[in-house]
Amino acid sequence: MLVGFLEGKHADFGARLDLADRRAQVVGDLVGYFGPRAGNPIAYLERNWGEEEFSRGCFGPFATPGTLTRFGPALRAHIGPLHWAGTESATRWAGYIDGAIESGQRAAREVADGLIRTGIRLAASDQS
Ligand SMILES: Cc1cc2nc3c(=O)[nH]c(=O)nc-3n(C[C@H](O)[C@H](O)[C@H](O)COP(=O)(O)OP(=O)(O)OC[C@H]3O[C@@H](n4cnc5c(N)ncnc54)[C@H](O)[C@@H]3O)c2cc1C
Repeated sequence: MLVGFLEGKHADFGARLDLADRRAQVVGDLVGYFGPRAGNPIAYLERNWGEEEFSRGCFGPFATPGTLTRFGPALRAHIGPLHWAGTESATRWAGYIDGAIESGQRAAREVADGLIRTGIRLAASDQS
């Protein structure tokens, strides 16, 4: 399986092509990278991530200069009982699955600590 992305100006260019022309362009590039066998794929699948309602792009978010230094901590600050998880709020590997896992673990710890502070005993802490 060969997977690739069209990013930036290449994505803009590709989005203006119809499917047949885009496929020809992509497959042609793959032939350039991997040789003639790449020119006869069993299947060709593509997705315009910019059209995904909740993603609005691919493959990850990029903050404009100054955003993280000015507003970074706000990405993780909970608002009362509302806690934030998501790769964008990670301190490492933001934009990747590792960041998603890190942020999920952090948010779960925040919620668990909050529950413990209010006197609610958790199953895991009951066992310790
Ligand atoms: C095409 C592509 C390829 C990628 N390849 C890699 C890779 O090779 N390696 C890597 O490490 N990372 C990769 N990533 C990035 C990785 O997938 C993300 O960093 C990770 O999935 C983020 O996890 P998350 O839990 O923060 O958010 P998500 O996985 O985006 O989960 C958020 C969820 O919330 C839902 N949602 C959003 N808004 C609402 C709403 N208002 N109501 C209800 N539901 C809502 C969304 O539908 C989604 O299911 C890739 C991403 C894409 C798009």
